Amino acid sequence: MLKKSMQRDEILSYLKSVNTHPTAETIYMEVKKAIPDISLATVYRNLKLLSENGEILELTYGSSSSRFDGNTSPHYHFVCEKCKNVYDIMMDLTDELHSMVTREGYLPYGHRLEFFGVCKDCCQKLKA
Ligand SMILES: [Zn+2]
Ligand SMILES: [Zn+2]
Repeated sequence: MLKKSMQRDEILSYLKSVNTHPTAETIYMEVKKAIPDISLATVYRNLKLLSENGEILELTYGSSSSRFDGNTSPHYHFVCEKCKNVYDIMMDLTDELHSMVTREGYLPYGHRLEFFGVCKDCCQKLKA
């Protein structure tokens, strides 16, 4: 268990209240409204602790900034290559995917699955 921290609680409750998968910079700007003297370094440190502790998910995208997710229940992501937004795709294929892999003799603890392409909003704009 992590020691209680007001700053970490604020970061966690902000992340649980949105589904936009913000970057550390966005989280910093939002949490600063409630805790004006918080620093970006503190935000980074707490995000690291929270993700190591399994309370949030860190989504890494190579060279661009990580995005953070307060929703740790099984779901997948759709990354739009036009607007760069990350959307939740709520479907749980855990059992099916795991049994396919177990049949190959592996013992999976988890998996990551991500879709890339153009989101609904951007599809609409392309048609217009
Ligand atoms: Zn889009
Ligand atoms: Zn998500």
